Amino acid sequence: MTQLFQSMADLSHVRFSAYRTAMKSRRLQKALCLDLLELSIAQSVFDQHKLTHNGQLLEIPGIINCLCTIYRELQQVHPDLVNVPLCVDLCLNWLLKVYDSDRSGKVQVLSMKIGLFSLSKGPLKDKYKYLFAQVAGAAGICNQRQLALLLHNSIQIPHQLGEAAAFGGRNMEPSVRSCFQNVGRDDVIELQQFVDWMHLEPQSMVWLPVLHRVAAAETAKHQAKCNICKECPMVGFRYRSLKHFNYNVCQMCFFSGRISKDHHLSYPMVEYCTPTTSGEDVRDFTKVLKNKFRSKKYFTKHPRLGYLPVQTILEEEHSET
Ligand SMILES: [Zn+2]
Repeated sequence: MTQLFQSMADLSHVRFSAYRTAMKSRRLQKALCLDLLELSIAQSVFDQHKLTHNGQLLEIPGIINCLCTIYRELQQVHPDLVNVPLCVDLCLNWLLKVYDSDRSGKVQVLSMKIGLFSLSKGPLKDKYKYLFAQVAGAAGICNQRQLALLLHNSIQIPHQLGEAAAFGGRNMEPSVRSCFQNVGRDDVIELQQFVDWMHLEPQSMVWLPVLHRVAAAETAKHQAKCNICKECPMVGFRYRSLKHFNYNVCQMCFFSGRISKDHHLSYPMVEYCTPTTSGEDVRDFTKVLKNKFRSKKYFTKHPRLGYLPVQTILEEEHSET
């Protein structure tokens, strides 16, 4: 575990906290083999262990029992990848680090579920559904306190990676307000309203959708040349300028903030984690046509934020898009 966290030091060159946190989370997810865990399998193991009361506190033997079932299931499908005793030990260690920092030897069922669901594999929308279901009442709706519980448990993951400050700290109130304001009511929200808000990628939760894109980008190959380091084809994320035709930046150059002389940081770029479709190429071409004669001043005045900002005490974080 110590080695894993030490190995994350090489990600410090990534200037943007959402990407950096997502990349750290991805390494953690793989080390714990949770990238192999389907959401539905996790759910069925929780049911099997009768972990239905999310407020219940689970002691270490209970956590180990549940993790043993999870990793035995994973080992059956991936015998070469999963070492059950090692995975159980690592995952237990991680859960205690994240949700039992004063080492009382107990973790709330809700925390364990949110932690494991957050790093499981599966479509992002399904993940939001599973996460929401953990705090929603029987009617499938969620009040402000319940949403705060969900966000609080999720933000512990980047917090443990030393990254919470960039996501509004541990105060969930601004995020809860942002979600309910987006819905336009203050009593309860439904699943779809939560999903719609999550699609805006709110600052406190942005690391989670970015984690999914980081995973998708790992194997992506783009038939384009990086205008800075000349890598071709580009592997990983591809950033295409919406100001200049045929201007692309690879993941390494983008993360380290490298730009060429004629490209200003305020110019709009679009991120691709998978190779572009012809529809996306046409859409971007039209955007470049519109932006071609717009000045640097225009883009500084009309910034395109990459995520939905929530009020934070760290004002300088607003400048990062
Ligand atoms: Zn490059």
